[in-house]
Amino acid sequence: MDLITVRDTRVARSRDDIVLAPGEQPLGGGTWLFSEEQPGLTGLVDLTALGWQPLVESDAGLSIAATCTIAELARIPEHEGWWAHPLFSQAANSLLASFKIWNIATVGGNICTSLPAGPMISLAAATDASALIWSPDGTDRRLDVADLVTGSQQNLLSHGEVLRAIDIPLRSLQSRTAFRRIALSPLGRTGTLLIARVDPSGECVFTVSGGTTRPVALRFDELPSEAALRQRVEGITEWFTDAHGAADWRRAMSVLFAEELRTELGEETSA
Ligand SMILES: Cc1cc2nc3c(=O)[nH]c(=O)nc-3n(C[C@H](O)[C@H](O)[C@H](O)COP(=O)(O)OP(=O)(O)OC[C@H]3O[C@@H](n4cnc5c(N)ncnc54)[C@H](O)[C@@H]3O)c2cc1C
Repeated sequence: MDLITVRDTRVARSRDDIVLAPGEQPLGGGTWLFSEEQPGLTGLVDLTALGWQPLVESDAGLSIAATCTIAELARIPEHEGWWAHPLFSQAANSLLASFKIWNIATVGGNICTSLPAGPMISLAAATDASALIWSPDGTDRRLDVADLVTGSQQNLLSHGEVLRAIDIPLRSLQSRTAFRRIALSPLGRTGTLLIARVDPSGECVFTVSGGTTRPVALRFDELPSEAALRQRVEGITEWFTDAHGAADWRRAMSVLFAEELRTELGEETSA
């Protein structure tokens, strides 16, 4: 849609260009920004010409630039020892949008929009990814993505702060994972999405998102018993109701999926 209040669009070429004036917002792929009215928005600063390398691998893990597109992330090549690799395409395919959106929507834009159904939030929270945030005064700060997103369309970014990258630690990439997602219709928005992950030390984390207003990570020293897991999932308080699902349905499906994931990872351990 036309954003009739926008008077100026700047293309950032360096960090100095990302100092935002009042009324300016960063522009990633624009798939959310141009999808609805944006009251108070007077300018856009395009981040996509900054030349950030989309995916950087190192001994520490994987750094994903905020401007990396969902399509680029989905195509990340397989890696020996990265047992968590299927999560990239599973998360990307949870954004059920057209080819055009998939190829232009960015990882950073998805996280910063902070919708409960943000699959990049699910991926990042489930892999203990940290967010590198650029502040307008030239300093940086880091936050776990799971803490950055605080509610539906709410996060801890202040005006002028820009998400530069998210970093997934190697131990998360080396984890065994299992994934479940459901929506009310075949191409519908996520009702609930669960990712279970067992890292090389045996530590286990079940991350619930989509059905909750923010991602909820349930941690265990080892694969929990059915009763212990059920109690923790039922103890979550952040379920919500909207057109994409009722809170009690989201909760019931999450309890069911958690047990399926526990069984799946347990079978792999004993195999
Ligand atoms: C048909 C359709 C289906 C969709 N389905 C889903 C879905 O299932 N789940 C979902 O979560 N979303 C969905 N969306 C919304 C949107 O397309 C996605 O959230 C997308 O990932 C947003 O990314 P973007 O790069 O286009 O963000 P943009 O529209 O460019 O930006 C979104 C917001 O993030 C800010 N921003 C962008 N990059 C940064 C950055 N690096 N640092 C700080 N702030 C930044 C912008 O200022 C803006 O406020 C859908 C949209 C459409 C049109």
